[in-house]
Amino acid sequence: MKRGERPELVWGLGLAQDVLAEISAALGEGYFMRDWPADRPPQKRDLTRANPLLLWISQTAWDAYPEKNRRTLRDWHASQRVLILDNPGPAPDFEDVLEQGFLTGIRTPVARHKIKDALFRAKEVKSLYDDIYRMTQEIMLEREILARKTDQILFLNRILTRASASLDAASILRHAQEDLNILLPIDSLLAAFWQPGEKGELEAEIFLPQPLDKAHEDDWIEYFLQQAHALSGAAVGAYQIGYVKDASGKTPEGKLGVNPKSLLLLPLRAGRDLFGCLCINRGRGEALGKDKAQALHASVNHLALALKNAKLYSEIKVQADHDGLTRIHNRRSFDEHILGELSRHQRYNIPLSLMMLDVDHFKNVNDLMGHQAGDVALREIGRILQQTVRNSDMAARYGGEEFVVILPQTTEEQAWLLAERLREKIEAKVIAHGERMFQVTVSIGVAALKPGSLEKREELLEKADQALYRAKASGRNVVCLSGDPRFIPKPAPAAVQAILG
Ligand code: GH3
Ligand code: MG
Ligand code: MG
Repeated sequence: MKRGERPELVWGLGLAQDVLAEISAALGEGYFMRDWPADRPPQKRDLTRANPLLLWISQTAWDAYPEKNRRTLRDWHASQRVLILDNPGPAPDFEDVLEQGFLTGIRTPVARHKIKDALFRAKEVKSLYDDIYRMTQEIMLEREILARKTDQILFLNRILTRASASLDAASILRHAQEDLNILLPIDSLLAAFWQPGEKGELEAEIFLPQPLDKAHEDDWIEYFLQQAHALSGAAVGAYQIGYVKDASGKTPEGKLGVNPKSLLLLPLRAGRDLFGCLCINRGRGEALGKDKAQALHASVNHLALALKNAKLYSEIKVQADHDGLTRIHNRRSFDEHILGELSRHQRYNIPLSLMMLDVDHFKNVNDLMGHQAGDVALREIGRILQQTVRNSDMAARYGGEEFVVILPQTTEEQAWLLAERLREKIEAKVIAHGERMFQVTVSIGVAALKPGSLEKREELLEKADQALYRAKASGRNVVCLSGDPRFIPKPAPAAVQAILG
């Protein structure tokens, strides 16, 4: 036995002194024999504490044991047992010995080579058992890993399926909050997306939970503006706010900076394009385990692709719905929108007005100031329309130098007032193109539908067009109502007079 090695433990049970001595001598160095007298066999607790290589059991003692004790020893798989056949009667059948769970039986007087042989076989069996035990442990570990991976794949599959089912960023975020809640408790999920805008600054869209009070909302906006700057290296020039209705129905905490550990900021990437970030407000900031952290990162990568898709879709939709020059809605979008407004007007019995604007003598503007100056004027009119009408109204470029405004829930009188205000604003606007300054005027025709009227889109447009025609015929720079031929003629301002000659 080498120095420092512990001797291997063997047990003797009810052995006669001479047998014990013979076995001890045969074992030699490296073994420690513990002898249990026949009337004090090891108890269950002894079996759980020790792990002997081998038990030498006297047949006389074995036969005298109650069945309960024998079963305890038979069921004990940690050690091998050898039966010492010391009973003077006829030797038991060898098969019976094996059947009782013994490795072998050795007759007395015990021959040394038989003891060594039994020891050798016990070692072999133990080593086999050890191998099997190790393999079983490994298989169990693999099973555990596989089970976790399967759970993770199912989880990612759920996130991806739900995220890809929608092209609307707010609903993707709402579903993501529900799904990620399985992984970690989430108080609220917030996000910001950005893209290059004008003058090297970013245009951002910030998604906040709803409802959120104004003070918290401002904090979050400031937070995201800073994060966007830090992550992308460029400042945000303009942003708009979107809302994610809280899926759980509870009011989100909303406070920022209560516990910085409770915020998880995760960049959103599609390939190399870092286009936004997710912020998970966890409320309670417990540390995430490795598995959960991995699952979270994998799901955020999935979500990033779905969100990028949604963003691309909305950009394409905005492009398809908007006019490239003035950036307000185009005719296609107007045609679609007016149908919805007409059916709402008919279903809910509410008034609806339509305004049609046409720039006066625009051909002259182009001819005298140049086509580009004409474009600047159209862009300026688009901006004035956008700034002046309500959110529920819709201003669109109808074509060339003609514009339309849909005014839901607006009577003829109210529409006329708004048209006058627009006309005056446009008339007053001094447009600069290079060194040159000029002004333009518009004529406006207003058509209004009273509650209960069943007119179609073409009829409404025709009425507005006729009113516009009358405005032109009345000298331009005026508003005319379709149902009422009154108008207030105004002389063109000096600058326009100059252009018109
Ligand atoms: P009226 O007061 O009767 O409306 O006179 P007008 O000169 O405005 O009318 P007309 O329909 O004869 O001319 C419209 C002009 O608008 C002709 C066209 O070259 C110009 N136009 C249409 N679209 C654009 C555009 O996108 N940019 C520029 N610069 N001009 C445009
Ligand atoms: Mg025209
Ligand atoms: Mg015109």
